Amino acid sequence: ILARIKDVCKRNGLLILSVLSVTIGCLLGFFLRTRRLSQQEISYFQFPGELLMRMLKMLILPLVVSSLMSGLAALDAKTSSRLGIITVTYYLWTTFVAVIVGIIMVSIIHPGGAAQKESTEEGGKPIMSSADALLDLIRIPIIKSNKASSESTTRRIIIYGVQDENGSNVQNFALDITPPPEVIYKSEPGTSDGMNVLGIVIFSATMGIMLGRMGNSGVPLVSFCQCLNESVMKIVAVAVWYFPFGIVFLIAGKILEMDDPSAIGKKLGFYAITVVCGLVVHGLFILPMMYFFITKKNPIVFIRGILQALLIALATSSSSATLPITFKCLLENNHVDRRIARFVLPVGATINMDGTALYEAVAAIFIAQVNNYELDFGQIITISITATAASIGAAGIPQAGLVTMVIVLTSVGLPTDDITLIIAVDWALDRFRTMINVLGDALAAGIMAHICRKEFIKDGDEVPLICETK
Ligand code: ASP
Repeated sequence: ILARIKDVCKRNGLLILSVLSVTIGCLLGFFLRTRRLSQQEISYFQFPGELLMRMLKMLILPLVVSSLMSGLAALDAKTSSRLGIITVTYYLWTTFVAVIVGIIMVSIIHPGGAAQKESTEEGGKPIMSSADALLDLIRIPIIKSNKASSESTTRRIIIYGVQDENGSNVQNFALDITPPPEVIYKSEPGTSDGMNVLGIVIFSATMGIMLGRMGNSGVPLVSFCQCLNESVMKIVAVAVWYFPFGIVFLIAGKILEMDDPSAIGKKLGFYAITVVCGLVVHGLFILPMMYFFITKKNPIVFIRGILQALLIALATSSSSATLPITFKCLLENNHVDRRIARFVLPVGATINMDGTALYEAVAAIFIAQVNNYELDFGQIITISITATAASIGAAGIPQAGLVTMVIVLTSVGLPTDDITLIIAVDWALDRFRTMINVLGDALAAGIMAHICRKEFIKDGDEVPLICETK
């Protein structure tokens, strides 16, 4: 029995530590509240948690660039352009639908409590107008993140020199998506560092697609990106062992700061229920229905075939780690064409994350609700666009969605520090959303195999070999 317990602990070490750290963090936080610590003592106490947040933010740039470039470089020119276009269009569509499902669920359940009728600057936390929000799409403040909205305008003026408050939003938006290098990562003394992630996503995607079209001459850079991607994943794999320690202080620090932590706990429970309900609706109804309408085949039989992959996703919280099992299930149980699976799955593991997108939209709106911000229609649109973009930018590794969450919050001027609110339940939600991410990729492979079954296969085209099952 002891050997068995040891084995279970070894295999689920991180999971056990995550559960423990959340529990210890909560207990410690509530215990220290009775001690009435000074503000300075609290800030010392929060330091390890602050380090964790900095680590997450440090990883954004290499994660997004390497995963997008190496994933999209797989879209080789002629042989796969049709499949590539259909696949990417389908991926974007399902991701967007997932976001809409999330927005509907969070609006119905309203886990963050009642919203104020007007968006005001009360409480010293201004909220951005929808135009301002669109304009500031995906610019991430790295250091003093709670001052995001007020600093962003200053930053914009500094970055573009000529732009003032009344300047053209469209112009600014266009400038943001085509950033010169110095604007991708901008540092201003005394304020926060801004990172234009939308620009980075657009640039990396374009580079990835072009690299794929260059054939052999692009191979060195593609290998470089794959290598970079792997090394970043290795850094993350090491960093996650610090996470449980950081989480203790993040959660305890947050509880120390909160006015009424028990009220937040209840809201957090409703928030988790909202995310899970959204995932269930999307994963068990919408995606299977799409599969059924397109292929006219029974989705239950298909899902039964990939059950093993779904369980691995639940256990690992990583769609990339699940990839070999997903391959195996698709080829052996569902008899999906190997060439299609080789193409659709790895690209999906990079850019198609329905569960992550849904969760990001729900989390952002939940944080707005908790802060009594009422979001207008433009801001909801902004959230749906940025949640889609953020899920594309997230890597298929544990809690990558938490990293890109910053993108969505910043886009509408919500306090990025409030990520610490949802971090307590993220280890659990991550597992469920990863399952939906894997399910989405697998069903997409089934659909693509059906759509392309005639001309693609008959032509004898070889889909470029991008990932081998080990
Ligand atoms: N863990 C998820 C995945 O691997 C990504 C996320 O954090 O949402 O698909």
